[in-house]
This record gives sequence, C-alpha cells and structure tokens, in this order.
Amino acid sequence: MNTASVSRRTALKLAAGTAAAVPLLRTAGASAKVDERADVIVLGAGLAGLNAALLLEEQGYKVLVVEGRDRVGGRLYTMDDVPGRPEAGGSGVGTGYARLFDRCKQLNVAFEEHRPRTEGTAANTAIHVDGKTILARDWPSSPHNPFAGDTRKLPPWLAGPLSLLPFNPLPDATSWRDPAFAKHDRSVAEVLAEQGWTPAQIRLAYATNPSYGNSGHDLSAMMWWHIARNAEVMAGDGKVHASVGGNQRMPEAMARAVKGTIHKNQAVIGIRSDADGIEAVCENGSLFCGKALVCTLPATALRLIRIDPALPPKVQTAVDTISYNRVFQVHFVPTRRFWEADGLPPSMWTDTLAGRFMALNYGSDPADVTTFLAFVNGFQADRLDRMPPEAAAVAVLAEVERIRPSAKGALRPIKVWSWQRDPFAGGAYACWQPGHIATQAHAFDEPVGRLFFAGEHTAAVARGMEGAMESGERAALQIIERFQETL
Ligand SMILES: Cc1cc2nc3c(=O)[nH]c(=O)nc-3n(C[C@H](O)[C@H](O)[C@H](O)COP(=O)(O)OP(=O)(O)OC[C@H]3O[C@@H](n4cnc5c(N)ncnc54)[C@H](O)[C@@H]3O)c2cc1C
Repeated sequence: MNTASVSRRTALKLAAGTAAAVPLLRTAGASAKVDERADVIVLGAGLAGLNAALLLEEQGYKVLVVEGRDRVGGRLYTMDDVPGRPEAGGSGVGTGYARLFDRCKQLNVAFEEHRPRTEGTAANTAIHVDGKTILARDWPSSPHNPFAGDTRKLPPWLAGPLSLLPFNPLPDATSWRDPAFAKHDRSVAEVLAEQGWTPAQIRLAYATNPSYGNSGHDLSAMMWWHIARNAEVMAGDGKVHASVGGNQRMPEAMARAVKGTIHKNQAVIGIRSDADGIEAVCENGSLFCGKALVCTLPATALRLIRIDPALPPKVQTAVDTISYNRVFQVHFVPTRRFWEADGLPPSMWTDTLAGRFMALNYGSDPADVTTFLAFVNGFQADRLDRMPPEAAAVAVLAEVERIRPSAKGALRPIKVWSWQRDPFAGGAYACWQPGHIATQAHAFDEPVGRLFFAGEHTAAVARGMEGAMESGERAALQIIERFQETL
C-alpha cells in the first residue's frame, strides 16, 4: 500500500480489520480500529475548536472533537485547586468580544467585571530594577530610570508600548496583514533606535517582563500597532470582564452544548488525507475519520505532528517558525500580611526571576490578597524552565525574600505552571517576529485539501480569546462553503 495517504476505502477496510495497518499507523503503534467517523473532525477543545464544532453542528454536520488533555478549554485554564481560582491562561474579556459574549449569553454563562491578573496601577506596584526598590511616585526622578523626556514619567511596563503609539502606521485593526503595510513589519528595537532609544532603554522596556516576544529584537513593531488598533475596537467601554467562577466555565459550557463526542486524553500524532477523506491518528492508537478536519492546535503543538501529504512549504514554514510568548507562573499563598510590615505596595514589577509579582484579589474583601502570582516572561522564564519545577519555585521565592525581607516565611508556594513546558501548548500565545507578518500571517487563511486551520494564531482581526472564536468561525464557514453540496 502506498504510504502517501489513506483513502476512505482503506479506512473502512481497516475498520473491518481486513487490511494490514499502513506504515504510519504501524509507526504510531496504532490499532486498525476506527474509533469514530464524522463529517468533520475538530482537533482541540479550546475556544476555536468548540466554536467551530458548535457552528458546524448548527448547520447539520456530524462533528467529533479530539482533545489531548483531560479537560476542555486549552489556554483558558482556571486553577480550581488554588485559593481564589486564579486564571493561568486567558484572563480579561474585553467588552468588544462580540462572538464570545454572544455564545456565552446563549449558554447562560454569567460575567462579572474584571478578575485582576496584571500589574495593576502604579499606585499598588513597586518597581524593582538594578537591585533597588522604587516607589512608583519616585520613579520619574530615580537614577535607575533609563528613559528620557516624558517617557521617564511612565511606569516601565507602559514606556515601551506607549512610546511606539505615535508612529502607528495602521489605520485600523484589519490592516496589519495588508501587503501595503509590509514595510512596517520591522523590529521594535529598530523602530525605537531610530527615535534615539539606547539599548538599555529598549532592554528595560521590551526584554523585562515582555507581554510579547522576548526582546525588542524578536518582536515586530507591527504586532504592538495591531494590538493598539485592535484594543480600540475590543476594549469597548474599557471595562474588562471574566466569567463568574473562572474563564474555563466558558469552554466547559460550550463543550456541554456540543452534540458530538469530545474525545479527551487523545494526543494526536498524525493527520493523513487523500481525495476521499481525512483522519487523525492518536498516540494511544485511536483513529478518527472524517471528510474535513479543523486543526486548532497552536503551531508549537502542530509542528510535532506528522502530516501526510506534507503541507505546502509556506504553511509548514509558518508552523515551524511562529514564536510564542513565554509565561512561567509560580502561585503563592500568603500566610502573613507582610506588605503591611514594610509599607511597600503588595505587588512588584521586577527585573529579576520574580518577574511581575502580583497580589491577586479574587475574594469578596477588597483589602484581601487571596494569592500572589509571580508571572515571569521572556529570558527569565527560560531560566526557570531549565530548573525542575520545585527548584524554580524556591528560586523565585528566594528572589522575593531578598527584595523584601518582610516576606520571609510569609509565602507558601502552591503551584508552578509553565505554558512552554505544557506539551499541548508549547507557549502562551503567538507573537510575530519582524518580517513574519508580511511573509507568514496569511499562511493559514486557506485550507490545504481537507485540512482547515483555526486557533488564535490564525485570526485576521481579533486577538486572544476573541481571535480564537473568530478563527473557529472562519474555518466553519470555509467548510460549509466547500461541502454544502455534497452533504
Ligand atoms: C497566560 C495567558 C494569558 C492570556 N491572557 C489573555 C487575555 O487576557 N485576554 C484574551 O483575550 N486572551 C488571553 N490569552 C489568550 C487566550 O487564552 C487564547 O488566545 C485562546 O484561549 C486560544 O484558544 P485556541 O482555541 O486558539 O487554542 P487552545 O486553547 O490552545 O486550544 C487548542 C487545543 O488543542 C489541544 N491540543 C494541542 N495539541 C494537541 C494534540 N497533539 N492532540 C490533541 N489535542 C491537542 C490543546 O490541549 C487545546 O485544548 C492568554 C493566554 C495565556 C496563555
């Protein structure tokens, strides 16, 4: 048998146990049994996959979902086992997330305003750089503030993004992928160096707790410009929301509404297709067959999968090279209100292994701190990823205690989480390198045969959760358009 692809007839034969497994199946150690057939296989039970599944079912398609983890939600992950149920993944839902709100309304998922998980305001965050702890009000005159002019007045986490805004060439949230703007797909470092920024300024603004990329050199300025234009639409009235009880309640409600089976604990290792059908092969030997397949896996997970026939070079290049932001987290329970002893604000923005050390308040008392979260990105996350998880928690704690001795013995590490070490994520979210938007951002727009792409990294307009919803909708519409006459 030709190993290049497997046909619907072959799959049927395999189901009946009459044919020997094709080589890919043998390589995978798979059985010859077809576990389920559907019109559409959806890979991944995150927002993109579940939205695609629901939309396709609404149009009468039989759908099955294959999910590698033992839970749905993907990068929406509410830590139900940590006090206050902090979000490890997506936290803030903008007022303009129309698809997400619409779906959640339909499924009776309630929202509340804001679940805090970022550095907050200058008033409640101390700045710790170059070994010195500085109150936000003292930052503009601090000798450790490397910035010039009005930028000195900004807290360091705003200095980078806000300084780029005056040069934003994009007229709206859709134009970042327009070839007319390709010449602006340059590194943040290049753009800011032209404005007279020094390497030290660029490093503090873009290589210290970076929300995107690791430094000013591996991030396209177009990414921030798109984020800014997108925020004008998505932020709506500026209020940030989250679903009551945690954001994972959204995909859980969506999963309950999916009529087809959601096969959990099924790590896909191969996708094969031919003129008659497409199938997903799992590590444990399960085999799922369909007419079309929506792949919502992050590129970091997709690049570990064998695809037969091979993807076109442009698509494979995008799969292999899209960067993902690093997010390493250590969650701590406070056993004493140590911040009242040293008079510093409870949260800190640091240039150390403690990253952004944030006091989270998920309780009913506004003065409460339910947990602390060390939210660590970029190169510091790389350092923590190279340690065993327990050692990483100890290293972060040692850093916090060094910075503020009043915290000694007052913090109990309760959970460590690395999105890069999670085999089903491989990073937090896509961030585009200089030149990649122009050459690769369109790579997933069109299906490859029976393989359709979705996932936040494939969104054309929205970002984050709403981007995931948008991408699932696009893939579902493409399938409906392609297969409407044959069903
Ligand atoms: C730390 C962090 C903070 C964020 N903050 C925000 C925010 O404030 N606001 C916002 O809007 N967005 C935020 N996001 C982004 C948002 O969470 C994501 O954009 C969105 O959840 C992605 O959905 P998705 O369906 O595209 O991908 P995913 O949720 O990753 O879904 C893909 C699914 O595929 C599964 N999978 C992977 N590999 C395999 C395999 N081999 N076999 C089978 N299944 C597999 C995964 O388990 C997963 O369930 C944040 C994300 C992170 C990580």
